[in-house]
Amino acid sequence: MKRVLAVMACGLALPLPGAGAAAQAPGPDLLLTRAERSEFRETTRYDEVVEMVGRMAASGTGVHLATFGYTAEGRAIPLLVVGAPDASPESVLATGKTRVYLQADIHPGEVDGKEALLILLRRLAAGEYSAWTDSLVLLVAPIYNADGNERIRLDNRPRQHGPVGGMGQRANAQGLDLNRDHTKLDSPETRSLVRFLNAYDPHVLVDLHTTNGTTHAYHLTYAPPLHPNTAASLVRLLRERWLPEVTARVKAKHSWDFHFFGDAVRTPDGGQGWATFDHRPRFSNNYAGLRNRLGILGESYAYATFEDRVKASLWLVEEILDLSWEHAGMVRRLVEEADRESVVGRELALRAVAQRTGDVTILMGEVDEERHPYTGAVMLRRRDVRTPTIMADMGTFRASETAVAPEAYYVLPEARAAIERLEAHGVTVVRYAEARTVDAERFVVDSTTVAEREFQGHRERTVWGRWTAERVTLPEGAAYVSVDQPLGRLAFTLLEPRSDDGFTAWGFLDPEIGAGSFPVLRVPARR
Ligand SMILES: [Zn+2]
Repeated sequence: MKRVLAVMACGLALPLPGAGAAAQAPGPDLLLTRAERSEFRETTRYDEVVEMVGRMAASGTGVHLATFGYTAEGRAIPLLVVGAPDASPESVLATGKTRVYLQADIHPGEVDGKEALLILLRRLAAGEYSAWTDSLVLLVAPIYNADGNERIRLDNRPRQHGPVGGMGQRANAQGLDLNRDHTKLDSPETRSLVRFLNAYDPHVLVDLHTTNGTTHAYHLTYAPPLHPNTAASLVRLLRERWLPEVTARVKAKHSWDFHFFGDAVRTPDGGQGWATFDHRPRFSNNYAGLRNRLGILGESYAYATFEDRVKASLWLVEEILDLSWEHAGMVRRLVEEADRESVVGRELALRAVAQRTGDVTILMGEVDEERHPYTGAVMLRRRDVRTPTIMADMGTFRASETAVAPEAYYVLPEARAAIERLEAHGVTVVRYAEARTVDAERFVVDSTTVAEREFQGHRERTVWGRWTAERVTLPEGAAYVSVDQPLGRLAFTLLEPRSDDGFTAWGFLDPEIGAGSFPVLRVPARR
């Protein structure tokens, strides 16, 4: 209670733009991030974030505060809503505006986005960017992996150029990488996020990170959804129009270079390639894509200074918001069309591999070695060098194995882990109250292997087999999952036995497979 009052008092005393000339203490520093207050030696802690956003929300400037769930250690995950009368999903949806979700700190060693979003929110509270809310609602989660954020160490991400006062750890408190959890939903954070997505339904999603690898010349790299099953119209908009436009605008305004995310790799023919990361929907941008939404990954460059990385993250977000505002109606229309478009009967990817699509000129960079002032460890600092280098473009994926999307799936009631997760994702599932006999295809497992090494608490299962047509009696409680629904692309990926990011791969069907039956049946598409 005491704390609430303190926050209220600070909020009331906040210097408001236009009306705040005579505002008294607290001083203007109150909404500065810890990064700004420490000359970018330190990053903002959870309690400081909560206090700052509480002040913003209490200032009466149209920034509303909610929480959308909890971390494993019980920290409420803050959500700021700007552009709606209040923070409830009902009010947000009722505006009819285009909804943009901005997320940072999923990997809390990569803290630049958190500082950038706090600066963005402060400016919004001060009345800057006021045009955006004509057609947009902003949904902002600056500190998604709050537990990881609090596990500060000076030797987390040691080669990154600061913050030298330390940064959080990559994993959540369960030791899970939250950016591998979007299909399996093993963490309360991801379950909170998916509940949020189902309630607020953002059209555009931006997830802010920092790079790990190649020394290139870009201050920031980005990626659209990479799964080959993503609605083509969404990928085209981002890949061919928005992301190049972001690059052009940032170059014109700030003279920095942005580009598609990649690492320089050796190609099989001994050349060099610019390879992106992974197509699977366990990653946030790919997951958003399979939900028919515009998912964008942002990666500030690890060896730029912390201050420059915060700027780069902020500038990416500003340009995405400008584009979302300029094309707000078109975004809603594209997303609605993708939701209506049925994939039943279409050949979709079960697994995918990186593909080579011509050549691309990459600006390679250089770094200087510096010593961390407090640990003596080597850290790297970007040098202002741009070396254009032609290499193979390996920025997209193609299907390496496909199946025709069926009309529907049946999931047997014993596969509780699968049914429960489908429902958590927001897939429409109909549970049968009575047994019934249907014509369906059953998957007969010929052979199966399990990965030797555990990954994120699971040993990946691979199955081989064939579908056979049968008349099957489904018991009471069996689940019917139509593929002709907005989340049909996601349902296909989760339920197909050969999918490389489905429930079979994650081991959720192991008990049934071990007992000799595969608990997902399908109704083939009519030819
Ligand atoms: Zn990351």
